[in-house]
Amino acid sequence: MEAVLLGEFAHESNTFAAEPTTREHFQQRREYLGGELLEELRGTNSSIGGALEVAEDAGYTLYPTLAASASPGGVVAADAYDFYTDRIVEEAERRGADIDGVFLALHGAMVPEGMDDGEGPLLTRVREAVGDTPIVATFDLHGNVTEEMLTAADALVACETYPHVDMGATGRRAMELLADFASGVVDPVMHVERPPLVAAGPLQNTREGPMAAVMERARTLEEREDILKVNVFPGYFKADIPEMGFSVPVVADANPEAARDAARDLARYVWDNRDAFVGDFPDPAAAVSQAKSQLAASSERAGPIVLADLGDNPGGGSAADSTAMLRELLDQDVGAQTGVALMRDPEAVAACIQAGVGERLAITLGGKTDEFHGEPLAGLEGYVAAITDGKFRNTGPMGTGTANDLGRTVLFQCGRDDAISVIVTENRHQPLDAEIWRHVGKPPERFDLLVVKSTNHFRASYEPLASEVVVVDSPGLAAVDIGWFDHERMPRPQYPLDDVPADAYPDWP
Ligand SMILES: [Zn+2]
Repeated sequence: MEAVLLGEFAHESNTFAAEPTTREHFQQRREYLGGELLEELRGTNSSIGGALEVAEDAGYTLYPTLAASASPGGVVAADAYDFYTDRIVEEAERRGADIDGVFLALHGAMVPEGMDDGEGPLLTRVREAVGDTPIVATFDLHGNVTEEMLTAADALVACETYPHVDMGATGRRAMELLADFASGVVDPVMHVERPPLVAAGPLQNTREGPMAAVMERARTLEEREDILKVNVFPGYFKADIPEMGFSVPVVADANPEAARDAARDLARYVWDNRDAFVGDFPDPAAAVSQAKSQLAASSERAGPIVLADLGDNPGGGSAADSTAMLRELLDQDVGAQTGVALMRDPEAVAACIQAGVGERLAITLGGKTDEFHGEPLAGLEGYVAAITDGKFRNTGPMGTGTANDLGRTVLFQCGRDDAISVIVTENRHQPLDAEIWRHVGKPPERFDLLVVKSTNHFRASYEPLASEVVVVDSPGLAAVDIGWFDHERMPRPQYPLDDVPADAYPDWP
């Protein structure tokens, strides 16, 4: 292989969220055009970062198209989708004769306005532009894999961890596979199996529990002859589309039977263990009350108790302004040093900035986006402890080195003795990296209690400093309970939402 076209276009679209994701939302997180992609992502723990490591070591000529990624949210606005995909496709048409491989970093759960699948049609257009030239794409394991993706790409390579700490490794692996294919060392074929179950978000954690076992089995299956990659996608049920669901697409070297057998082995294992993916977690009132008693019982602890406000995880497309947890903290008067990351509320930010650092004021905080995230907290009195530009880079294991932009950001302290510190931002952002606390001048390890709007990604950065992690079944557009949503288009039946007889799957001989 000598020359590669590469690009990233990634979004996880929550079709239940009202606000579409526009180009401005991509610009808030990542929009690097052309060569900017190389400068900004080289050396980061991202799919493109890993791919660049391999490609630059090997001395390939690189044709960067663009890298665009936005916080999970509503469907991608049609003009934003067209802007990014047209640029990638036009570049593929222009460079078609000069390249011998295409590398794309995708998510897999993108839903553009008026479409059901963002990545499949993009891959089809790139395929039309480059003909038989090999195309390998990386994916987030929360992708909903469609038949069009499998047809248009030569190989799919998904990350293997949740929290996704292996994005760099995923990019490296995919670039190596692309090079092997382009130089005739391998000839990838794929087979997919789709066990009909929905796995609770926190139980998709690959560090322990059922998903750790599934991933271990996937790695063992990769030792079989001709198996190149065993992908596991628990999928993303907040995208209500006909091809939503758990999938196991396996890539083999010119051996469709080997791909099929490995996919079936793992899909059956997942199905046989379906009960292990159903969870029961405390609600906000119970979680806060339990944390309060624990804190009262002992002053000696090795770091804060971390409560995951997963219903309002903006990383699952939620609003990031739910008041459910903060209301409980205030109502139950926890009386501990408590941090809340975060509350997206541009109006409250403006009011605090107008008041200024060191000033006290009353604000109306949160609950402003829609009816799913609680009532606004009106007349909330507090103190403006800090104002920042909201810019910092991840220092934790996930996306290490990548940039974040919270917009203008305020540290607002409220509750008895101003003991509750709330990070209030202009932009939606999943606070998965504890560096967010250092950027407002608060070492996270000094809190007694931390509330983090995240389902599982926070574990990579927070577990090392936490004495305990509690997952909270809180309301919001990222809620853990699929029954909370009103699905109309996803394939049915789905365990545990529907009564699926044990022998309904697998249906192969
Ligand atoms: Zn993901």
